[in-house]
Amino acid sequence: MEVKVLSYTQNPEVTCAVAMRSTRTREPAHKLIEREWRTKCDLPNFTYENRCRSLETHMQCPHFSFCAVRLLKNAKKMNHWGVFEHATFTVSVSGVSRALTHQLVRHRLASYSQQSQRQVKIDTNEDWYIKPPSIKDGQRFDMLMGEIAKCYQKYVDDGVPEEDARFVLPNACKTNIVITANAREWFHMFKLRTDEQSQWEIRRMFQQILEELMMISPLIFEGIIFGEKS
Ligand SMILES: Cc1cc2nc3c(=O)[nH]c(=O)nc-3n(C[C@H](O)[C@H](O)[C@H](O)COP(=O)(O)OP(=O)(O)OC[C@H]3O[C@@H](n4cnc5c(N)ncnc54)[C@H](O)[C@@H]3O)c2cc1C
Repeated sequence: MEVKVLSYTQNPEVTCAVAMRSTRTREPAHKLIEREWRTKCDLPNFTYENRCRSLETHMQCPHFSFCAVRLLKNAKKMNHWGVFEHATFTVSVSGVSRALTHQLVRHRLASYSQQSQRQVKIDTNEDWYIKPPSIKDGQRFDMLMGEIAKCYQKYVDDGVPEEDARFVLPNACKTNIVITANAREWFHMFKLRTDEQSQWEIRRMFQQILEELMMISPLIFEGIIFGEKS
């Protein structure tokens, strides 16, 4: 499985923080964004862990009104989730099973573009399926996949269109997908799908995406409760 961030809203943390601030002041967001915004707390004793300090400490800070750290923390605390809809992130995922994407697309507030089995012929000479780690009897599994591959290939060679030949393909079949969602929806999907109740492959994918997005926007994505690592 490969996960790559394709693109995202410019300055996602400041964009969301400006949106938050604009709900609490007469100044419009397009003026607010021209201010000197802070995405790190530079008060004495600052560390990554304690950057969300108490309100009293923050009030003494000269950057109080334009501190994205404080504003985003407060937005989460008061369930002001709409603020996080102003930043979107687009991620490309490859080499996951159709079993995974079937679960993924149930999250209807995200947008998807998935490799088509109607238009793209599966190359069964390549590594074309996922074998779950719980299947210890790998040989039998591989043999079955080999039989399916032969059958699929024969149908295609005999002129059956890919859209019909694919009916023999399994859930294990690899696919690629592009996902776009706003930060609020990512947050929601991370909560559901990094939980240990979730299926191992989708959990692994969301853990990888979360790690990528955390590097881009720690202020937005901090506070996700990670399920058990798979
Ligand atoms: C561990 C796990 C196991 C699962 N097992 C199954 C399963 O066995 N079978 C199965 O079919 N699905 C299963 N699902 C899928 C699950 O039921 C949801 O469809 C999926 O997680 C998408 O949820 P969502 O909150 O992102 O919903 P979305 O459908 O994307 O909706 C987004 C949000 O809009 C709101 N919303 C949407 N529609 C309505 C509505 N009609 N009424 C009220 N509020 C609404 C909710 O707040 C929801 O969170 C499972 C999911 C998980 C995480």
